[in-house]
Amino acid sequence: MTDTKNTAGTNWRPATALVHGGTTRSPFGETSEAMFLTQGFVYDSAEAAEARFNGEDPGFVYSRYANPTVAMFEDRIKMLEGAEAARATASGMAAVNLALMASVKAGDHVVAAKALFGSCRYICETLLPRFGVESTLVDGTDIEQWKAAVKPNTKALFLESPTNPTLEVIDIAAVAEIAKSVGARLIVDNVFATPMYQSPLSLGADVVIYSATKHIDGQGRCLGGVVLSDEEWITEEVMPFVKHTGPHMSPFSAWVLLKGLETLPLRVAQQTNSAGQIADFLAGQSKVKRLIYPGRDDHPQAEIAKRQMRGGSTMVALEIEGGKEAAFRFVNALDLIRISNNLGDAKSLITHPATTTHQSIGEEARAELGITDGILRLSVGLEDPQDLLEDVGKALAAI
Ligand SMILES: *Cc1c(COP(=O)(O)O)cnc(C)c1O
Repeated sequence: MTDTKNTAGTNWRPATALVHGGTTRSPFGETSEAMFLTQGFVYDSAEAAEARFNGEDPGFVYSRYANPTVAMFEDRIKMLEGAEAARATASGMAAVNLALMASVKAGDHVVAAKALFGSCRYICETLLPRFGVESTLVDGTDIEQWKAAVKPNTKALFLESPTNPTLEVIDIAAVAEIAKSVGARLIVDNVFATPMYQSPLSLGADVVIYSATKHIDGQGRCLGGVVLSDEEWITEEVMPFVKHTGPHMSPFSAWVLLKGLETLPLRVAQQTNSAGQIADFLAGQSKVKRLIYPGRDDHPQAEIAKRQMRGGSTMVALEIEGGKEAAFRFVNALDLIRISNNLGDAKSLITHPATTTHQSIGEEARAELGITDGILRLSVGLEDPQDLLEDVGKALAAI
């Protein structure tokens, strides 16, 4: 049940790997990846079952451990990321939790950038300390703060770049150096950059995680996540955690996400192109107090972005002059761009973080992260950029 033609392509360029990578075929020789909706597997003999369980035969045992459709997804994204191994999870948060839990034990210490996705912050600030793992939050853009925060018992450093929602860019190579100096693992949440535009492993990171819910699906259909790293750590730490606690990806989600991977480069390129046009248009508007876009020279970390990213972003952050009231008027005047908290979708989506995704962290934490009441996060989709520009222009005029 393997396709020798397709496992030969280790030198494929990304677009090719995303169409063919990891494909295995059943005896029917189907073109599209098969969806193996099965919990378990049967064995031809008691001896065959024994061999599966003692590892002499590497075949499948149970879908909580591994599943053929999920394995295709893992192999495909592994090729794209240039990682030795990958484990797919039910959601992005399951991937974050898995990466952290597989890195620490009671008595250890974690350092994370403050500008984290809300639930990631909850794990670091609230959940880990309950199990005796201390955490320190730093301003991720200030390398000195990372240096000052690490200790001999620091086992994991955790960051996302660009950050949500203000699109700050953190110097991954510099943080990786600090992680190495104390023997800690650097975990990078690469959702906003996408695997197309940033390769944290090549910058010195040890682990990359994705919420596949975002650009990898890219069409708003299912949740998913993945942890990518070296073979040894995935086999010895990540795999047992998945096996025994069950955060695995469903074969249905893996099938949807395999299809998403096929078109990822096209979608991300188009969405980034449109986002760049919208960012340039907004930057020149008097009602826009601040425009943040990693592909522009006026981005606060433009130099770092140029060094570590291969493209801009599908995301644009903007601060509307006039606070919450003006921001709400702008959002409510949009017709084509829909109000939602998701991102990376084919449909353009706008979020007012202060009252939605970042409501629960409180005013003080928002102020620290620069999430003012006028800040909006725009995820640019696959619509014609001209229609998007017209929608944005019309809404600005309506403020
Ligand atoms: C959405 C998101 C997550 C969580 O992913 P889910 O699939 O929603 O669980 C984690 N990190 C970042 C940066 C995200 O955008």
